Amino acid sequence: MTIDVAAAETTLKGERAKLVRQLRELGADESGDLTGEMEYGGTFADAGAITAERTEVLGIVDGLKRMLDEVDAALLRIERGTYGICDRCGEAIGDDRMEFRPTSVLCVTCKSAG
Ligand SMILES: [Zn+2]
Repeated sequence: MTIDVAAAETTLKGERAKLVRQLRELGADESGDLTGEMEYGGTFADAGAITAERTEVLGIVDGLKRMLDEVDAALLRIERGTYGICDRCGEAIGDDRMEFRPTSVLCVTCKSAG
């Protein structure tokens, strides 16, 4: 049972860069705060439309931020040497599962136990 941690780290860092880029595109920074630099277009759209759009953007930003947190947590686990080890029972999570979802922190048993 060996997890290719180096490969996982590369994958996670690539994923992180992608998420940060998506956040930037939406006018948010890495912490998920909107920087206000997003362009709403050159005209004076009505306030209601802006609010609706903003709410939608905030929802997307929120989702991206959550994924970024998971990736950061996984990278921290690599750093600490606990990558691929179940957070709850301390058993190996398993190669297949880690490959399928590199940010997993629980083994299948603990995950399904809720
Ligand atoms: Zn477990």
